[in-house]
Amino acid sequence: MVTNRGLFERALRVIPGGVNSPVRSFRSVGGTPYFVARAEGPYVWDVEGRRYIDYVQGYGPGILGHAHPAVIEAVGKAVVDGSSYGAPTEREVLLAELLCERVPGMAWTRLTSSGTEAAMAAIRLARGVTGRNKIIKFAGCYHGHSDALLAAGGSGVANQGLPDSAGVTPGAVADTVVVPYNQVPEVDETVAVVVVEPVAANMGVVVPHPGFLQGLRSACDQAGALLLFDEVITGFRLAPGGATEWFGVVPDVWCFGKVVGGGLPIGVFGGKAQYMQYLAPLGEVYQAGTLSGNSLATAAGLATLEHLNSDAYVKLSATAVCLADAMTQAAADAGVECVVPRVGSLLGVFFCERAPNNFDQAKAVANNGVYPRVFHALLEAGVAFAPGPFEALFPSLAHTEEHIDTTAEVFAQALRC
Ligand SMILES: *Cc1c(COP(=O)(O)O)cnc(C)c1O
Repeated sequence: MVTNRGLFERALRVIPGGVNSPVRSFRSVGGTPYFVARAEGPYVWDVEGRRYIDYVQGYGPGILGHAHPAVIEAVGKAVVDGSSYGAPTEREVLLAELLCERVPGMAWTRLTSSGTEAAMAAIRLARGVTGRNKIIKFAGCYHGHSDALLAAGGSGVANQGLPDSAGVTPGAVADTVVVPYNQVPEVDETVAVVVVEPVAANMGVVVPHPGFLQGLRSACDQAGALLLFDEVITGFRLAPGGATEWFGVVPDVWCFGKVVGGGLPIGVFGGKAQYMQYLAPLGEVYQAGTLSGNSLATAAGLATLEHLNSDAYVKLSATAVCLADAMTQAAADAGVECVVPRVGSLLGVFFCERAPNNFDQAKAVANNGVYPRVFHALLEAGVAFAPGPFEALFPSLAHTEEHIDTTAEVFAQALRC
């Protein structure tokens, strides 16, 4: 029989740490990862047949829930026509039109195969546009694993207890300035771009203070620097127009991923037309990709976005409010300090009295040892949170009141062990 342990042991022999992305490794919570056999709606089943109510949802893409019939149908229809041509397709146009229509201020987009690539390309574009080198990023924000952006990267980097990655040369990060979240930094005329997660969701969920994003906008305007919103998590999750719409602050360049691909590999970067025209073949900033705008990914993305109408966001937020309230209540009943920061349907959990405002505070809480214990108690009882304290929870449209009630009961029990 195939077991989690058996597969993990085999994986450890041929895959470093047994996983294809470090966040999945259970290193920060201990134990053996469950190997997923299949998933549907709010559930995943492991290879041993155990079912979990899943709040990982692929770290965000599963906003409709797993294996949504519309996505299955779209991908199924697409695949019989071939999957990669090296020539443009109609679905790329449809997706670009839809994205530009939804995100206020975004005129042009280009598709990539991952969020990492999108962020990397957006930074290159900003440097090409401004002719400046320096980039400012915030500690605990994650923008993918490209060299210049890994510094104080949150998420998996933080889960591994690494300050940064080895193998990144001093030269690669010489122009990266890392500053604390929720404080508007000084932006001078050497800065090409300020990159930010408009809601930080890779150091747990850390909510931007009122005025923080607006402050970044003003500081960039004054210095002639570009503002880049990394909406790989917030995009098409908080609202049809993502965090840009939610907060009413419009950056110059954006990157997206996760939700936009409906579970298939995709990334997007976009911007105002006057900046995007610097991109090859129009301009001199080069960026490319064999699988960019992939036929299956665009099919899954379009099918997903079609379901994300305004009703969907009302429902998602309501689900997240129920979950947040139930978790907060359960913790209060159990006498466990716990906060559940939430923006729209995006929420996180910290076992402490007051929600962290930045990475230093988030790390102090994450290292208090409560998360791994609660995580395992939840998993044992059939509820899957992310295997690390720096990730968000992703309730989907497939999570109903019943799933939330079950989760709340299980959470209450978990806090008592
Ligand atoms: C996941 C993530 C990325 C990287 O996307 P990949 O598709 O994993 O390369 C970038 N930025 C943020 C905010 C993310 O959450």
